[in-house]
Amino acid sequence: MKKNIRNIEERNSEIKRLEFYISSSCRNNCIFCGEKDLLEDFKGQFVAKAEVEREIKKRAKAGFNFLVLTGGEPTLHPDIVEIAKLAKRLRYQVFVNSDGGRFSEENFCRKIMPHIDYLSFSIYGHIDRLHNLHTRNGKSFSILKKSLENVEKIPAETKISARILITKHNFSKLTRIIDFISRYKRVKKILFSGLAPEGRALENYRNLVVPLGEIRKKIPLLARLVAKKSRKIKFFGLPVCVLGELKDRSSDTKWHFQITLKKIRRDKRTVLAETEGFKPLKGVMKPDKCLRCSKKDFCPGIFEKYYQEFGDGELIVQ
Ligand code: SF4
Repeated sequence: MKKNIRNIEERNSEIKRLEFYISSSCRNNCIFCGEKDLLEDFKGQFVAKAEVEREIKKRAKAGFNFLVLTGGEPTLHPDIVEIAKLAKRLRYQVFVNSDGGRFSEENFCRKIMPHIDYLSFSIYGHIDRLHNLHTRNGKSFSILKKSLENVEKIPAETKISARILITKHNFSKLTRIIDFISRYKRVKKILFSGLAPEGRALENYRNLVVPLGEIRKKIPLLARLVAKKSRKIKFFGLPVCVLGELKDRSSDTKWHFQITLKKIRRDKRTVLAETEGFKPLKGVMKPDKCLRCSKKDFCPGIFEKYYQEFGDGELIVQ
């Protein structure tokens, strides 16, 4: 085991990732929210600026060089511009996950974008009704569209991507969502994400998850359309036998050493808990069938919850 970890460290020694949940505030109330506990336990709260600064300075000294600012909606953190600026001074690459958030304010975009290397927008539909059905916020699609329009205007070098979570509600509209995203020239990468069974996604799993066999059938069509739009396609949370020829486009096969910092309650106190890991996916497993597969060391496997609900019938040994 130790040898395995050392090899992974050697392979990915260039990236040490710090994932920081700086915000427990969010204007949405997504039907699949994986951070339901964080948002309920610390409703509307943020990790204090001084604490964020102390942690990112400490980790920079320890060699961390890639900072993911997330939450909740991280742009609602009142000090996010200052945090991003400091992170750049500490030589981090800065990645922000957003539902649109304050990017809907042009002035905010001008202030923060020069200090962000990567920005990922979460998109669940191509029209108000479909996107907002997922977020349960009647204004969320307008905010997202305004944000996409704003970031087009800013002459920063930020690399912008879109993350589409695949659900039963949007599965038949994925090509329309690609069309919608492709209106925005700055969005160069489209990532399709399988449903991770955490928080509300775990509670509503059966109602939301699309069987892997159906996703497998649709992937070639999605890939053709994304290529036609001159965008790059990526995947998250899907096993190799679903991706087929596109297995190299999986984000789950790239392991980096990572520390996650997130507020939790422990002994009636609030602490910033630290979790270490190498694998991007949590709660995955490989059924016995996978032991015969030539891709078993490369493939992330499937979510345990998926296996409990659907078994391994849709996996194809490679
Ligand atoms: S059979 Fe198992 S190991 Fe092989 S690609 Fe599918 S999920 Fe991965």
